[in-house]
Amino acid sequence: MTRLVVPCALAVTLTMTAGCRTAQRAAAGVVLPVSQENELGREMERELARELRLLDDPQVVGYVQELGRQIVQAADGDVPDGIEFKFHVVDDDATINAFAIPGGGIYVFTGLLRAMEDEAQLTAVLGHEVAHVTRRHIAQQLTAQFGFQALTAMLGSAGGLTGLVGQLGGAVASQGFLLKYSRDNEREADYVGLGYQARAGWDPRGMMEFFTILQHMDEGRGRPPAFLLTHPAPDERVINAHRRIAELQPTPTRRNRERYQQMLGHLGAPTK
Ligand SMILES: [Zn+2]
Repeated sequence: MTRLVVPCALAVTLTMTAGCRTAQRAAAGVVLPVSQENELGREMERELARELRLLDDPQVVGYVQELGRQIVQAADGDVPDGIEFKFHVVDDDATINAFAIPGGGIYVFTGLLRAMEDEAQLTAVLGHEVAHVTRRHIAQQLTAQFGFQALTAMLGSAGGLTGLVGQLGGAVASQGFLLKYSRDNEREADYVGLGYQARAGWDPRGMMEFFTILQHMDEGRGRPPAFLLTHPAPDERVINAHRRIAELQPTPTRRNRERYQQMLGHLGAPTK
């Protein structure tokens, strides 16, 4: 199996070099040009519309879309040409998760919305997911998972594309997520995403609070929240986020707790 490997020194903290990141991002563009990523994304979207129950409440969906739009605006110079972000809300109170698909589709579960308390926490997760897309992590992970040759073969044939979409969609149905990213990808999504969130004016400390909320939930329930399965929050990740937030001076303070709580009130009582 041939893999497109871009050698990078194993980063201990946030020391992954800009050159290394650029090389990985460029390699992702070779494996999966944006036009193909968009095609894959459209197929995935159709598949997920069958597998997930999407919320159609315009107030809640519009709210999440508006916050997402502002994060994307803050990411402006980073968004690859041709990528258009779309934010969806999955009507599933039991799943605490969010994920990105190829082409810029971002899915946020109602279980995640309910686990949070304000916009600072939600936009931290939105920033993280938007960063997975802008840094082309999806193409990198698809290559790592399937291998360069198999992936290009799948993307090059209609049957292969359908098979790939079926496999990825099946993973969402059974596990609640699409891809497991590498630690480097997660570290970069935290770093870059917190920058987007702060540039958009929200308090990036919401990320730390969200980690804490998840950890309490993990202790209180028999099974960890889906977001923790794909996004473990080891000490290193927490320390890195603290460091990153310290860089973002002056720290923005917008939280909009009241507006967030109104949205939750509109969502109504959870269904079990
Ligand atoms: Zn992630």
